[in-house]
Amino acid sequence: QEAKLRQVQKMDALGQLTGGIAHDFNNMLAVVLGGLELARRTETRDDMMRHLDSATEGAQRAAALTRRLLMFSREEALAPETLVPRRLVEGMRDLLDRTLGDGVKVTVEDWTTGWTLFGDRTQMENAILNLAVNARDAMDGRGKLTIRTAEMRMGPHALPRAEAGDYVVLSVADTGEGMTPEVIERVFEPFFTTKPAGKGTGLGLSQIFGLVGQMGGDVTIQSAPGKGTTVSLYLPRHTDAAPAKPVESPPTAPDTQ
Ligand code: ADP
Repeated sequence: QEAKLRQVQKMDALGQLTGGIAHDFNNMLAVVLGGLELARRTETRDDMMRHLDSATEGAQRAAALTRRLLMFSREEALAPETLVPRRLVEGMRDLLDRTLGDGVKVTVEDWTTGWTLFGDRTQMENAILNLAVNARDAMDGRGKLTIRTAEMRMGPHALPRAEAGDYVVLSVADTGEGMTPEVIERVFEPFFTTKPAGKGTGLGLSQIFGLVGQMGGDVTIQSAPGKGTTVSLYLPRHTDAAPAKPVESPPTAPDTQ
């Protein structure tokens, strides 16, 4: 029953996604066809070039859209492994500092005591990088970016889409422009972006949402206009043993990886 419902929801999302893409693609084709048709009917060479240029632009947009789609659907070889949250984030510090520029001050806070997560390192790194770049964009290149790792036991219904249990929480907070409730509502939709064409693909957060969902976790967003944004990834705690009942107190064992 539950599985069936989920399948129906998935098909629904897929239907919306493909419907939206077909619509965009059709619009781009209309630009191409319109430009070609007008070029055919022109008298002067200048007019013809103008119409051909617009046809080329439409075709380029269509090509960019399919490229993004291919990236979105590519099945990469995944190699999930045990990841220590602090190391995952620390390992990205240099890359983040370089990518975000001098205006963004990056702070890392680690509150974990040894809980680990299980996932593909590259995918996790991409997710963090995506969140950091979103944060930079929202701060217009100036502000504070804080990456926190923590451990949290969540009760039933504490997370909208994930079960009760132990989670490693990885959050990325910025001091940027924040989001309106209308934007928050739509951020996980594929291709939803408020950025100018060429800057945003609208795929970052939807990919992260998909990834974290596959890992059995959840994503939450706290944001308000002018108040900055915190995106939190709740990733199920990894236990080497078969998933038994959660331990009663947070372990204090040093991480041994
Ligand atoms: P993209 O960054 O390509 O637009 P995303 O899916 O990553 O695609 O983000 C979708 C939209 O969510 C962005 O265009 C922006 O409006 C909003 N957003 C994402 N992260 C933040 C943030 N840290 N602060 C403010 N708005 C954000």
